[in-house]
Amino acid sequence: MRHGKKRSIHPQIKGFVITLILGILLIIAAFISNQFPDEVNNLIEENLNIPTNSSNMISVNTVDNTVVSADSKLQIYFFDVGQADSILVIADGQSMLIDAGNNEDGPLLVNYISSLGIQKIDYLVGTHPHEDHIGGLDDIINNFEIEKIYMPDATTNTATFQSVLEAISAKGLSITRCEIGNTFGLGDGICTIMSVENEEQSELNLNSIVIHMAYGDKTFLFMGDAEKTNEDKISWPDVDVLKVGHHGSDTSSSEKFIDKIKPETAIISVGANNTYSHPSADVIKRLSDCGATIYRTDESGTILLTSDGKTYNVQTFMTALDGNPSTANKNSNTNDNKTEE
Ligand SMILES: [Zn+2]
Repeated sequence: MRHGKKRSIHPQIKGFVITLILGILLIIAAFISNQFPDEVNNLIEENLNIPTNSSNMISVNTVDNTVVSADSKLQIYFFDVGQADSILVIADGQSMLIDAGNNEDGPLLVNYISSLGIQKIDYLVGTHPHEDHIGGLDDIINNFEIEKIYMPDATTNTATFQSVLEAISAKGLSITRCEIGNTFGLGDGICTIMSVENEEQSELNLNSIVIHMAYGDKTFLFMGDAEKTNEDKISWPDVDVLKVGHHGSDTSSSEKFIDKIKPETAIISVGANNTYSHPSADVIKRLSDCGATIYRTDESGTILLTSDGKTYNVQTFMTALDGNPSTANKNSNTNDNKTEE
């Protein structure tokens, strides 16, 4: 009787168990596919540079100015890389490269940075994984000694992103995760992470690493492609020099934000005649209304700012990285992929 009964319900139990197992497998598969790929996880140095106590934190409202010595010297190159970003900050013998333009800019950046006598990049920042920011990172990684790499925990399925991960892995390097409030020294300067999203966002721009740098009395803010959503989350200090967010797009640089930070100088990294119509006329007006002097890489080519911590000076080169006049000649092929702006 028992056996008979067992035999009659056994197929049902079996069916139920199979369905249950399949369901669980499906859930696990869905879960894994939403996770950071293993290859990225393997490259992350967990717990590095994550503040463990309050002494590592600097309030984003009261970023202290730093003390610089008499011979302190800061140089910031806003490279003309067309519709893209690449900024080299050199402070007292240390260097930080924020983004590395599009893929084709990689070799040009390597040549230019090498020509400055630089062999080591102390901090390499990929603000977010769009091609116009991480395009040349693999060339940089392959050609310089790299101390630390900061990138948000954000992934994309492009070949460009893959080649950056491969370059990091091949060189035995790792990605250092950063959090809002982390600070690090660059020469006599102090850099503070003002914004970063390490969770999946609706848009990769929102993951952008935003860096504030205090150098003596002077302050600088490098926005990556951060947007209004990011701007709204932070109480910002006023700054002297702003690298305008997202190539001057009106997705960024809200009136409230610009009024709060009141930049004296605004620098827009943008390609001439780009298909996005960057920079936005509204953003230009907003910046000039608050008294900012605006420099644009599409008009001025590579821009060099130098400072001793007390004053600063801006020079324009009127050439792109390849030595050609500005960028009017070189951005027709960089705007094809609208998802990678
Ligand atoms: Zn961009």
